[in-house]
Amino acid sequence: MTTKIYYENPELKKIEATVIHSDKDAAGYFALLDKTCFYPEGGGQPADAGIINNVKVFDVQTVEGEIRHYTEQPLPLGAASLELDWERRWDHMQQHAGQHVLSAVFDDHYNMKTSSFHLGFERVSIDLDTPHITKEQWLDVEKKANEVIQRHIPIQTTWVANEEVSALKLRKPPAVEGPVRLVMIEGVDINACGGTHPLNTADIGMLKLISMEKSKGGTRVYFLCGKRAFHYFQQLIETTDELVRQLNAPIQELNIAASALLQEKAGNEKSIKELNGKLLEAEAATLSPDPDNETIEKVFEDRPIKEVQQLAKLVIANHPKAVLLFVSVHQEEIRFVCARGASATGDMRIPLKELLAMTDGKGGGNAQFGQGGGIFASPIENFFEVFRNSMKNLQG
Ligand SMILES: [Zn+2]
Repeated sequence: MTTKIYYENPELKKIEATVIHSDKDAAGYFALLDKTCFYPEGGGQPADAGIINNVKVFDVQTVEGEIRHYTEQPLPLGAASLELDWERRWDHMQQHAGQHVLSAVFDDHYNMKTSSFHLGFERVSIDLDTPHITKEQWLDVEKKANEVIQRHIPIQTTWVANEEVSALKLRKPPAVEGPVRLVMIEGVDINACGGTHPLNTADIGMLKLISMEKSKGGTRVYFLCGKRAFHYFQQLIETTDELVRQLNAPIQELNIAASALLQEKAGNEKSIKELNGKLLEAEAATLSPDPDNETIEKVFEDRPIKEVQQLAKLVIANHPKAVLLFVSVHQEEIRFVCARGASATGDMRIPLKELLAMTDGKGGGNAQFGQGGGIFASPIENFFEVFRNSMKNLQG
């Protein structure tokens, strides 16, 4: 049985111990020690990391009642120097203790109960059994949680027999059998918990509520404590500084500056659309049918097909007696737009079908207007020839 130094003193970063067993399982090499300061993953808190005799510990898990320290290389039996990645552990303790305070405030002041806690690499959250939190409640909870932190209250732990627990009115019945570890913040919280916590609420530093979202009928609340909250604040400053510079507005007026910019963008897009329409009309005016066969033909390269279609409609409206074939080429691809003026005859689906047969392509349309495309293989002149012959046959 390994002595859990992380319970006796959660602030010990370095200890001397003894490797009593060294082995390998599916997860890798592991060592068992007579005592350890490494916390194994559990209760929502991730495992500690660090080194044992300068060998990296990449995971710590409780397996079959043993605390297995997974290391990159096998460790020999005997004396061992353990050293935690303290930054990581301290961060976990700050988030974890902050969660106790936050859940207690939500419960005591708004009767919102915490159903689960997640401490991730970047995000920390609790799930509350409430469908909605008002802005007023949100701000009040954050204020009260920070008041608890600033009151500098000791965080104490003790072990009690399972039978004694029911008299203590814990927020949640303990999930373990046998002796129960209680974590107590006087006047704020008493909870069954197997995690590690700093010794005082002041060590949480600060607690910042970040965001909330609907989750399984309840509400998930994201928050950050201590150094994480501090880093988040730093990120926000860098982002707003950049925006202040780019938008040339003070922080308080960034939203106004952004709205103005978006409004301007919408106005510009509208003008561009109108100007494009006028440009197309001007281009359409330059295209007229060959007087011998009333046919309008043109090849476009890399031009959006929607624009080619719009142009075809404008041109054919100007020349009601004409028929039209526009070909648009993009790399290996060829696309056709066939159109017929209001006074011209023939079903445009017939030449289109013949053109598509030459390209292994697909298309559709009606008697007046057809479009489609496929693979560009034959010389471009062949397509116009096929179109002209097809129209000649149709018009008799
Ligand atoms: Zn805890």
